[in-house]
Amino acid sequence: MIIGIDLGTTNSLVSVYQNGKASLVKNALGSVITPSVVGVDDEGRIIVGQPAKDRLQTHPELTVAVFKRLMGSDQTIRLGSLELKPQELSSFLLRQLKEDVEAELGITVTEAIVTVPAYFNDLQRKMTKLAGRLAVIDVERLLNEPTAAALAYGAHEELETQILVFDLGGGTFDVSILEMFDGIMEVRSSAGDNRLGGEDFSQIIVKDFFAYLVEEHHLAEDTLRSDFLPKILAECERAKTALSTQLEYLLSIEINGQSYQLTYSRDTFEKAAQPLLDRLILPVKQALTDSSIKLSELDQVLLVGGATRMPMISKLVARMFGRLPSREVNPDEVVAMGAGYQAVLKAKDAQINDVVLTDVCPFTLGIEIVNELGGRIISGVFSPIIERNTTIPVSRMERYYTTADQQEYVGIKAYQGESRHTSNNVYLGLLEVPVPKGEAGEQAIDVRFSYDINGLLEVETTVVSTNEKQSIVISNNHDLSEDDIQKSLEKLTAMKIH
Ligand code: ADP
Ligand code: MG
Repeated sequence: MIIGIDLGTTNSLVSVYQNGKASLVKNALGSVITPSVVGVDDEGRIIVGQPAKDRLQTHPELTVAVFKRLMGSDQTIRLGSLELKPQELSSFLLRQLKEDVEAELGITVTEAIVTVPAYFNDLQRKMTKLAGRLAVIDVERLLNEPTAAALAYGAHEELETQILVFDLGGGTFDVSILEMFDGIMEVRSSAGDNRLGGEDFSQIIVKDFFAYLVEEHHLAEDTLRSDFLPKILAECERAKTALSTQLEYLLSIEINGQSYQLTYSRDTFEKAAQPLLDRLILPVKQALTDSSIKLSELDQVLLVGGATRMPMISKLVARMFGRLPSREVNPDEVVAMGAGYQAVLKAKDAQINDVVLTDVCPFTLGIEIVNELGGRIISGVFSPIIERNTTIPVSRMERYYTTADQQEYVGIKAYQGESRHTSNNVYLGLLEVPVPKGEAGEQAIDVRFSYDINGLLEVETTVVSTNEKQSIVISNNHDLSEDDIQKSLEKLTAMKIH
């Protein structure tokens, strides 16, 4: 049996194709949503999902969440005495999902279609597939999350369509613009904020509730934080969810035998959340600009992600686009449903092909320069050479000049990122280029950046007067060897899973 999996940053879901349609499958706890949390219990066994999430606040050193953000990095995550890689954590999650489906439906899972963010690069995609392998699931193929959402809305029945997908999850915000043409779904652009999601909205309520308890009731903030944080967080989370369908919620908590209550209104919540709402606008504009598709040309705007259940989000989107967004499919279920549809289409051998965004460079690449502005020298300025969302492979050249008299070397520092200041961007590497001495501005250097589909960046410099060339290749690929994979498999097999 082939299943569809939404392997989310906050929550994961599974769908299957049965009796002619895709439907979500409940886990062992009776919920279609499994929190993407992994932990170790008191006996040292791995726990996954809600039981792990319940221990997130009480056992922070034995529990880990939002590890999808680390996918593709070489980072090691400590869980008690265990040291794990992001793909290994994901594999625990996949294994749990698989076992739950098998138990619920009495079937054997052989293959899976797993969704990934449109902006995932080649390495992040490889690591997602590897997580499948470590969980003994054949990840038949990866599907872009926005494409999955579009499939759930029947985009595959259209010949030509242009769709904007607005996805606000637990900790990430992704905007993608899709174009369906000739049976192929292409991600035309993708933008977003990796540090903005539903949890930030919960924190607004937490802050207000804290203020109430500390200022009105003179409770010690330190004690509240050390002893009651899990309770407060859970209550605020309930309030947030409740306020999506009702206008008021009675926040209540018992502390040392005394009960404290605060009536919290949707109106208060929305006013306090305004700064977060403001941050949702820029990525939408960016995605539209990068796609060269005009707002008026969009056929549909889809709401995706649990956090879009908040009325303030659909209101904002409606205002931005001057029309009501589509949300007939539950926003937190739509990606998994789409993965299920892809499984259906695959069974019929009619699956939709989607072009992955690794076909464009996901970051701006450039070098650090010194600028002169009205006689003032400004250093640490980022000069882009390859703009983000440029189709790759790409090779671009810019000419730069020396800035000081008698300069002997020019340091070409490569960076990736979107800030005007290199200090906010990611440093990639350095080329020391010797130049003939002369007056400032006399020597010119051509800097060529070539970026290929494997994520390799070649930086080549040419001193124009001497035609002297230098180059370096910068790779952010930490690909694993077959040996590493076998070691990882052995390590995981030795672990006890609850
Ligand atoms: P991800 O894609 O990050 O895995 P989801 O799409 O599952 O995440 O969204 C999870 C977020 O949605 C959480 O912050 C959760 O609190 C929020 N959420 C879920 N249901 C509601 C609701 N009814 N009202 C407001 N927020 C909600
Ligand atoms: Mg999601």
